[in-house]
Amino acid sequence: MSNLDIIIKNGKIVDGSGNSWKVGTIGIKGEKIEKISMKIEDDAEKIIDAKGLIVCPGFIDSHTHSDLASITDKQAFNYITQGVTTNVIGNCGWSAAPINKATVKDLLSLVAPDLDVDLTKLWESFGDFLNFIEGLKLTINLVPLIGHGTLRIAVMGLDNKEPTPEELNEMKLLVENAMKSGAFGLSAGLEYIPGLFAKPKELIELCKVVSKYNGIFTIHTRNEGDLGDKAIEEAINIAEQSGVSLEISHLKLDGKRNWGKADERLALLEKARAKGIEVTTDVYPYTFCMTSLHALLPNWLFDQGLEAVLQKLEDEEIQHKLEEYYQNGTSMLAPSEEKDWDRVILKNSKNPQFRGKSLLEISKNIEKNIIETLKTIIKSDGLAGMVVLKGMNEKDVLKIAEHPLSMVGSDGEVKKREDEDIHPRYYGTFPRFLKMMVYDNNILTLEEAIRKMTSFPANKFNLKNRGLLKEGYFADITVFNPKTLKDNATLEEPNRISEGIEYVIINGKVVYEQGEARRKYPGKIIRKQLK
Ligand SMILES: [Zn+2]
Repeated sequence: MSNLDIIIKNGKIVDGSGNSWKVGTIGIKGEKIEKISMKIEDDAEKIIDAKGLIVCPGFIDSHTHSDLASITDKQAFNYITQGVTTNVIGNCGWSAAPINKATVKDLLSLVAPDLDVDLTKLWESFGDFLNFIEGLKLTINLVPLIGHGTLRIAVMGLDNKEPTPEELNEMKLLVENAMKSGAFGLSAGLEYIPGLFAKPKELIELCKVVSKYNGIFTIHTRNEGDLGDKAIEEAINIAEQSGVSLEISHLKLDGKRNWGKADERLALLEKARAKGIEVTTDVYPYTFCMTSLHALLPNWLFDQGLEAVLQKLEDEEIQHKLEEYYQNGTSMLAPSEEKDWDRVILKNSKNPQFRGKSLLEISKNIEKNIIETLKTIIKSDGLAGMVVLKGMNEKDVLKIAEHPLSMVGSDGEVKKREDEDIHPRYYGTFPRFLKMMVYDNNILTLEEAIRKMTSFPANKFNLKNRGLLKEGYFADITVFNPKTLKDNATLEEPNRISEGIEYVIINGKVVYEQGEARRKYPGKIIRKQLK
């Protein structure tokens, strides 16, 4: 009988620490790495010859939305084909729990209404959700966060107001329970309803609870464009006041007016760290983002709740105000010039004629102005539609990606193979990051790029025994061919899989091998261990 289950030999081992590669052999037994040495004499059931290949820890995606998607799709094909073995879930304020039956309708009106998840199974507590996921087959590992948006809806619905002391206490209690049941921290999305209704005070109070449990706070800041600096300062202030470990999600500079300011924004993070505030960030290697349609609309449109939005859009005075809002460039995401609406592309729509078209194209086709066009789209699709915004500049993206404080996050989610209503980052982020930063542009060493995808996020999120190739660590391993590595997903064909990812091992099981998924389910919901 062989002593080991898998041996990976002849590869260049990049261990995830940032240290230079070395030649060696890895022996895996059960879920763990049993041995790493120059040569292993033992026999194994499976021998992988990694000659010419890079052997590194499986990639940890620091920013995903695979919460409910993990229930409906167990393969996580779009992730394993990128070499990703772990997803941090519950980002941008959205988690699948806790849910309050009285307000769940509000939650569903904003997120993923098309998922075929059994809605009678509602997870009133975060622990219930984790227990449910634990009972499922999973291919990849999941690291859960509790979302502030979900939490706020459970306690306050979509009310645009500050919480009463009782409501705040209830939210704090729910955060505490989530942390006790294994959440790694709290996320917020301050550009979305209802996150945008929250003042810093509310978030500071919630983060104090997270901090007590040594958790982390990930934040989609209030603004990623003109007011991006103020928004980062707000996030840093929340961390300073609460003592929480801060992660600024998907750092970017949206809108032409802000191009070239990457250094300025990154300097805010450096300054905070110099003061002792633990802040880091993440990035995806694309110059276009994807977000909810409603993020294009101003906050004041939501001050009487969601249902009033459509009604308001009928009002001529409000239409005029909206026009001004866009023209003055006070909009957070939307362009200020008419031709720039060409950079806003509607990804999914019930109306096939709108699908994949820019808002400018749609407005021309239906012979209406932009405001009328937005109204027409919202009438047909509600507010949950997704738009792609071609709003970033490559130099800024590269600067953020290069900075030692940034890790990699796809901002995607587990997707069914046939799904095309997605951003290419769902399939391409990790191979693209390596190709762009290491092989094409020589900006990072291979070891540093891999650190940003492995030990860095593991350390940030406090994942125990993951993120490094080390004896006794979980055998989450990706083996790739540096000569053929390439992301193939594009805006037009976003679900094309990447090339060059040869083997992916999760908790000691091969889940992807030379282009084929193995239909194994070794993934775990990882719970934060409380000291
Ligand atoms: Zn976000």
